[in-house]
Amino acid sequence: MVVDKTVNIKEFNRNRIYMLLRQKRNLSKQDIVQHLQISLPTITQNLNYLLQEKLIANTGTIGNTGGRNAQVYSYISDAKIAIGLDITRNHVTTVVVDLNGDIIHINRRRQKFETSDPYFQLLGNIIQEDIKELDIDDSKILGVGIGVPGLITEDHQTVFYGKILNFTGETLQRFTKYIPYPAILVNDANAAGFSEIWATPDTKNAFYISLSNNIGGAVYIGNKVFAGENQKSGEIGHITIIPDGLPCYCGQKGCLEAYCSASLLADTADGSLGRFFEEVQGGNREKLIVWDNYLRHLSIAINNIRMLFDCDIILGGYVGAYMENYIDTLKKLVASRNTFEDHADYVRICSYKTEAIAAGAALPFIDQFINQI
Ligand SMILES: [Zn+2]
Repeated sequence: MVVDKTVNIKEFNRNRIYMLLRQKRNLSKQDIVQHLQISLPTITQNLNYLLQEKLIANTGTIGNTGGRNAQVYSYISDAKIAIGLDITRNHVTTVVVDLNGDIIHINRRRQKFETSDPYFQLLGNIIQEDIKELDIDDSKILGVGIGVPGLITEDHQTVFYGKILNFTGETLQRFTKYIPYPAILVNDANAAGFSEIWATPDTKNAFYISLSNNIGGAVYIGNKVFAGENQKSGEIGHITIIPDGLPCYCGQKGCLEAYCSASLLADTADGSLGRFFEEVQGGNREKLIVWDNYLRHLSIAINNIRMLFDCDIILGGYVGAYMENYIDTLKKLVASRNTFEDHADYVRICSYKTEAIAAGAALPFIDQFINQI
């Protein structure tokens, strides 16, 4: 037991030093002593380990007070990377994310989804192209997260509900036949939500709504995804907004998805969501009615979530990216429904405006890596 404790303290100190360097970027040993109140020999020992692992670098000297210059240690943000994929019906997007969680490469291409060997081979080829383009050594690659519009088993191995792409039962093994790195399958909304929690570490509890062509959601309690008993929590797209209302692809009627899918907006503007919002901005009467309706239905869902969880609600997805100009209108609609609160400042827009799914699929590898140092 005593041994375990010593090891834990050692690792704990190493992690604190690494995290401090990660946050402050350039520090001398004396700076680290001041920040962390750890002894100089312990700091030296840990810095040597981090240098040896090529996670930090010695990047010169600073100061000239009282004689000797102090050595500066810097954090290397691309010492390791993770790759994230966002698989949709008609596109494949890959991103490369560094240890900051920053996207350092995006590759988006039109590619129809199919559960065929050539398709999975193509995924492998795309990843190899990205790696080649960035000239990344294999030893730097922590893993590949594959974000998909489906419900995934707890072990990240199998799609157990995949009606959107008709790929129920598809496995990680098939997806990664041509991907020679550690990999996981991730639900798209959970991935996007994770990127958001990562970007705002002060957020402890939140409900993330992904307003894309499909509506997804993710529940975060105490900084962790609450997955539910059956990995189905947060499926906000299929709560009933209007009893016996419009038909949903799922077979039910009146689901939020039938009222707040991004494609309902885009379909009124030749399939372009950008054009839809240009016309709303331009005061197009017909589009304003469509948009009012959208916001009204969304406000019902948001109020219901607030009543259930009493936490921040983050809007992401395709529509979330356009929400800036309309957030005040939406907040008023939400506040007008609320029993206890006369404002809705708990509603906010996502920080990752694009590629939240692909980034969020990659981030668990980064998160795990930096926490185990
Ligand atoms: Zn439904």
